[in-house]
Amino acid sequence: MNEIIEQNLSLFKCPVCKGGNLHIHSPAAVSCSACGHKYPVHEENILDLLPPSPTSKPAHYQHPLEKSFFDFYYSRFYEDPKKDNERYAWGAPESITPVHLEQKKKLVAQILSAAPSKDKIVCDVTGGAGWLSLPSAKEAKLVINADFEMRNLRYVMRKAKEEKIKNMLFVRADMFASPFPEKSMDIIFCTDTLIYGDYQVRHFLTGITESISAGGSAIVTFHNKRHRLPFRKPYVIGYSLGEIRSILSEIASARFSFESFYQEPVRWVEAFIPPTLYIARISGK
Ligand SMILES: [Zn+2]
Repeated sequence: MNEIIEQNLSLFKCPVCKGGNLHIHSPAAVSCSACGHKYPVHEENILDLLPPSPTSKPAHYQHPLEKSFFDFYYSRFYEDPKKDNERYAWGAPESITPVHLEQKKKLVAQILSAAPSKDKIVCDVTGGAGWLSLPSAKEAKLVINADFEMRNLRYVMRKAKEEKIKNMLFVRADMFASPFPEKSMDIIFCTDTLIYGDYQVRHFLTGITESISAGGSAIVTFHNKRHRLPFRKPYVIGYSLGEIRSILSEIASARFSFESFYQEPVRWVEAFIPPTLYIARISGK
């Protein structure tokens, strides 16, 4: 494994026993000092902290999209990490439409300006194509690019190499069994992910909220369910601002605020249509 993983193992906890410290077991594995579970390191750079089996599932599904998400999640869980060799990450700039690309750039600019990363430990828990982690790495002390899928991790790793980024770690993580200790991260991103129903949203937000350092913040996005215009994605579960407030009040008490994001390129339309997304900032305790 590479040095950056070796030097930063204290930023992770064992997701199996939910708290054990990790230490180096062999050149290509780490293990938990409490329960002894071993976790492989792939290609020197990707710390694979998936638990041995999925840990979570709703008792019953409230929405067809929720069921399709969990079917997909379970089908990918046991896949051999060597086999997921798709060239592009989900939502990579090379594989989306020009309209979507412009919307994505606008969103990334708004989120990055809300979360300056200078000298911070930044963690994108669902890093995807590295939209936030790659630019954050230019100023951050360390960026942890986490994702459930190897194709996404490999893609961002390749881009980081091309951009000569040296302060980035790659972690295969299951946010139903968060591998991040309490109060460990200065900035946490979770964007375009809280879209598969209450069960997923509450589990992910709980892990995220616990991991924010004192004085740190998490930036998470929700799709607005009142936004139903052309180009609206039909495959996500959205929320009203009132519903988001209610979920965040339960999980993060009163430590949150919002801004709106409009995907439309011109400002004047914002007076007439609802925002596409709500960007929530959750503050650490
Ligand atoms: Zn353990």
